[in-house]
Amino acid sequence: MTDTLRRRTARAITALVLDGQRRSTGTEGCARLPCPTCLDVQAARVETFVAAGRPVRFVLPAFPGKSPNSAKVLGVLPDTAERLALEYLDGLTARVREVYAPGARILICSDGRVFSDAVGIPDPHITAYQRELHSMIEALPHRGLGLFHLDDVPELAGTDHRRMRELLTERYAEPLDHLRKRIRAGEEVALYRAVTRFLFEDGNTPEYTGSRAALQRDARARAYVVVQRSKAWGELLSERFPGSVRLSIHPQPCGAEKLGVHLVSTADDWLTPWHGVALAEGERFVLVKRAHAEACGASLVCVDGRPSHYALPGVAAA
Ligand SMILES: [Zn+2]
Repeated sequence: MTDTLRRRTARAITALVLDGQRRSTGTEGCARLPCPTCLDVQAARVETFVAAGRPVRFVLPAFPGKSPNSAKVLGVLPDTAERLALEYLDGLTARVREVYAPGARILICSDGRVFSDAVGIPDPHITAYQRELHSMIEALPHRGLGLFHLDDVPELAGTDHRRMRELLTERYAEPLDHLRKRIRAGEEVALYRAVTRFLFEDGNTPEYTGSRAALQRDARARAYVVVQRSKAWGELLSERFPGSVRLSIHPQPCGAEKLGVHLVSTADDWLTPWHGVALAEGERFVLVKRAHAEACGASLVCVDGRPSHYALPGVAAA
């Protein structure tokens, strides 16, 4: 393959991924979408794979486990919200194959185990979620997705979940006081605020009886731990899968090393399938919080006897 063709192929692959690009963060935002600056940065990474004639490897830390708040989600297991996201990603690998025969592989690095204690999801729920996610991936038509968990790290085999998190933190995490200082100085503020908001919402369940101020304080303290562990997980992944193209479910600054992508269409740039439900609006699905779907008068649709998604009245379920 000539240099020109290689470069053009890498850019064509990257453009397909940029189709799902999220609005980037605050003042560091992209001037427009899809963004030419982000295209340049990501295409350079993709080109390494193209030069070697290997499938492009994308690494996506995501799909941690369902929010513990029943006002946001339908339950513990992945449902149509996750299925749509996985179908989108699997379809993306098929679209890459059309422009580049070796194709692409997206490794979903399910990160719930990494911070389950800090986000309040019991470990058995994480295990059940991961198992169902695995079945959903197995059923996809293009076979473009893989799954990797903390439990799959060979050095941690046979360790209990609490100890796994300790070892991850010891080996890869930035000290909490250091991270706190950086966030207070204005670094990673968008991510910190988003995590705080999710933790606050997750804790603000119909059963919660404490004060909002106490919940807010608690959410802020736990957000530091969630950010710390997520970053430690990212470090482990870049050591384990060097050279991979990093995708993220969070908006990123323009030209960042990671590329923020949407998995399912939503009005809220930070909402994810595991913090919401799928709502069928005619031919298309959007992601909303469960309470929102119910307030709209949408009805619950079950598939195989299990809650799957919501549909607006008069609209056929897809
Ligand atoms: Zn950009």
